[in-house]
Amino acid sequence: MHSATIGDLLDREQQRFREMHPHSAAAWEEGKQHFLYGGPSHWMRRWAGGFPVYAAEAKGAHIRDIDGHDYVDFCLGDTGGMCGHAPEAVTRAAVRQLQNGTTMMLPTEDSLWVGAELQRRFGLPYWTLTTSATDANRGAIRIARMITGRDKVLVFSGCYHGGVEEAHVEIRDGRVGMRNMIHPNGVDHSAVSKVVEFNDVGALEQALSAGDVACVLTEPLMTNFGMIPVADGFHAALRDLTRRTGTVLVIDETHTISSGSGGYSSEHGLEPDILVAGKAIAGGIPAGIFGVSREIAERLWAIVPMVNPRVRQSAHLGIGGTLAGNALTVATMRAVLEEVLTPANFELMSANASRLAEAARKIIAANKLPWHVTQIGARAEIMFMPQPPRNGADVIASRRSDLEALLHAFYMNEGILVTPFHTMFLMCPATTSADVDRHTDVFARFVDLVRGARV
Ligand code: PMP
Repeated sequence: MHSATIGDLLDREQQRFREMHPHSAAAWEEGKQHFLYGGPSHWMRRWAGGFPVYAAEAKGAHIRDIDGHDYVDFCLGDTGGMCGHAPEAVTRAAVRQLQNGTTMMLPTEDSLWVGAELQRRFGLPYWTLTTSATDANRGAIRIARMITGRDKVLVFSGCYHGGVEEAHVEIRDGRVGMRNMIHPNGVDHSAVSKVVEFNDVGALEQALSAGDVACVLTEPLMTNFGMIPVADGFHAALRDLTRRTGTVLVIDETHTISSGSGGYSSEHGLEPDILVAGKAIAGGIPAGIFGVSREIAERLWAIVPMVNPRVRQSAHLGIGGTLAGNALTVATMRAVLEEVLTPANFELMSANASRLAEAARKIIAANKLPWHVTQIGARAEIMFMPQPPRNGADVIASRRSDLEALLHAFYMNEGILVTPFHTMFLMCPATTSADVDRHTDVFARFVDLVRGARV
């Protein structure tokens, strides 16, 4: 008898998934009657079982679905749940603020504490709250264009910064195209974007030398195409080149805040002009933040001054967000910064991520598999290639989508959730070593399954 192929095994796992999840399967069929892409967000359709499980309850690092299955949740809402589900401090703050008004177009006193804490943690003096990380990036880009008068945004191939049109580009087969086959949307990306490979100082220097780039928008290391570590010296070169060419440096810490309480930038002494974060920053209540340096603030104030209440038509910034900085978000953000994403909890989370990464590495080594594991603080990633990629091109050349889909479907059937877009594991303060060990056991069984297959 021939051994099964990866495709056969995926068929089997998806069949098992359908059988194990009759209620979620029925809910999904119903959802398709009402929602454009089946669920309330199109992102929810991308789970490897073929449809998402419907959540009944989420607490700490666990989710129970409507078919009664329990999952150890390493997806954590693709980082939005990094505080853990329903953390007590956030719930308490949210309930209190819900009873006192959610959104008033007025600041609350909590915002004073939050502003001072953001300044202390991230080292930048002036902050703005938005409703999402996407919005924060859009705001950062708009400000960079306003103060430089330039039109282009430079990103690195393989990046993701939310629904930001300028960042939807990648390099594939040496040519610039749309990331993940995303529709070009009638936008002339060559007019608004430049894209180079991560860690490529020469290409960066050339791209910035024309003097038409308003800002470089980058994560401190890449986390959205698998994890792509940053090469020694790259950040120093990036900072030097952006300064020399008058280009604003925007560091997006939405995911890499997993590095520690001040994100990767403060851990590694980076000096962004603008720092962006979001997702977990208000405990899962929609929120983004961006902070700017004094120099950026002063250049901006020269264009858009502080309001004079006598002038009714004072300029606004062209950045959206009626609900941005609302009282509910500010209250939960305070709870997160004060009680949840604390240095002590980061230590715990990082220790569990190390435990997961080391156990997975051992299994990979014992089975002589050409795979690797990367870790950055509370976040780890298993990739089906022997070495960490240096850039997006390496990921495109070596990515094993078939193995990823099989692993993810197998995980779901065995009670493990990871982000559906690649194999990233995130710890929250409530994640336990027993949760991590449950993953280790499932991963070992996955390896057994694949070793018996025709790869
Ligand atoms: N920046 C980064 C680095 C991200 O990974 C994401 C989302 N994955 C975003 C921004 C956008 O976040 P949101 O969809 O919450 O706006």
